[in-house]
Amino acid sequence: MTSSLSAIPDAKLDERPNQNAHVNDNPEKERGDNNRHLYVVIEQEEGTILPVSFEMLGEARRLMDDFNHKYKPEEKVVAIILGHNIKHLCQELIHHGADAVIYADHPELRHPRNLLYTKVVCQIATDKESAARIWPSNPDFNRPRYMFFSADDTGRHLSSTVLAELQSGLASDINKLVINDLEIRHEHKTKGKPIVYEKTLEMYRPDFSGFLWTTILCLDNINPENRRKFHPQACSIIPGVFPQMEGDTDRKGTIIEFSPTIAQEDLRIKIINRRVIKSKVDFSNKKIIVSFGRGIKESPEQNIKLIENLAKEIEAEIGISLPISKKPYPISESLSSTYMIPDRVIGTSGRKVNPQVYFAIGISGAVQHIAGMKESEFVISINPDSEAPIIDESDVLIKGKIEQVLPLLINELKKYKERLQIPQEIE
Ligand SMILES: Cc1cc2nc3c(=O)[nH]c(=O)nc-3n(C[C@H](O)[C@H](O)[C@H](O)COP(=O)(O)OP(=O)(O)OC[C@H]3O[C@@H](n4cnc5c(N)ncnc54)[C@H](O)[C@@H]3O)c2cc1C
Repeated sequence: MTSSLSAIPDAKLDERPNQNAHVNDNPEKERGDNNRHLYVVIEQEEGTILPVSFEMLGEARRLMDDFNHKYKPEEKVVAIILGHNIKHLCQELIHHGADAVIYADHPELRHPRNLLYTKVVCQIATDKESAARIWPSNPDFNRPRYMFFSADDTGRHLSSTVLAELQSGLASDINKLVINDLEIRHEHKTKGKPIVYEKTLEMYRPDFSGFLWTTILCLDNINPENRRKFHPQACSIIPGVFPQMEGDTDRKGTIIEFSPTIAQEDLRIKIINRRVIKSKVDFSNKKIIVSFGRGIKESPEQNIKLIENLAKEIEAEIGISLPISKKPYPISESLSSTYMIPDRVIGTSGRKVNPQVYFAIGISGAVQHIAGMKESEFVISINPDSEAPIIDESDVLIKGKIEQVLPLLINELKKYKERLQIPQEIE
């Protein structure tokens, strides 16, 4: 997060501007509003666009359709894609919501290298020529108005360095976005005067509990003693939270080839060998996943053994919530190194799964976890709290504690299996 980020403590914020607020002090109006469009940085792997890119485009389309309806300026959703032999992907991005695609195709861009990608993304984001081709009737362009990255390993790193380079703010791990006119009064930003900031991107970030949100704003300084612009308003977006737009092959858009300027010094990090490390845990070949969370806390060792037994009975793989991967409870080394590991995390910081049956045992159902398991066909949760948000995702809630429910469940499963093995008498 850069220092330009305005989570603006002590700010007074009102979504319905009052009539005395100084709309005309808005720098967009004073200096000419030449920040335009929503740029989405697409991720692809060996010629396949990652799902999160389509999700970002879907959300970008929704936001900009509302934006254009409200403000009537016809600003665009612009996809940026970097790689090698990727031209054929551009049309797909237009089918999924982009109005324009700017692509940089170069052998050195085949795999992401942060230093190089930062440079090329910044070149594109400040390129007036491409912007003029995107909106020929309105070619005056300074920076993107808004910018989206993915909140995965590549996007988190890239977004921070791009925004540092562009000297604007970044909100990370966002799962809700709204564009609004906001009245702000702030000692540093507005010198205490109420000012209406138009077309402001409200970026909602869930906290670590997953149940409280911070609204993050990236605002220009209008205070005459401290004037400064902060554009683009940018964020990284949690994979799995926004729906993709259905592909529409009739959609048309502008495709622009961008020739990046790459210097020798940009290539000082070389890829000599590239190996994709396979996860130790393969969720894809199991029909059932049994996941557990901090609900094990009263007797972690004993509860994990119960979960292990249940998984054995039903031939399931074991998943965990993110806090469990931080090894929060003292347990034996063998259980800890087998189960409390990042490879088992389900959610935005881990894996996305879609088994036939998903058990959520002692898991509350934070948004980041839900994003990883919501495609499961049938969800059974075990939790003493019938208000836990996981219930909204569950087909069945077994209300109770792990220590009470699992011994009964395992016992019944054993009996059921035994019954299945007794040959039926033929009459
Ligand atoms: C940037 C970011 C990324 C994140 N990514 C992920 C991610 O990918 N995956 C993820 O899981 N989280 C992620 N989180 C964390 C997430 O916000 C939640 O904090 C986390 O999912 C909560 O884990 P939990 O459900 O195990 O614990 P808690 O929220 O503490 O819930 C424990 C649950 O156990 C129940 N319980 C208590 N006692 C018992 C008992 N005896 N038997 C049964 N149930 C019991 C409680 O009622 C409660 O519902 C992320 C957070 C951030 C900020």
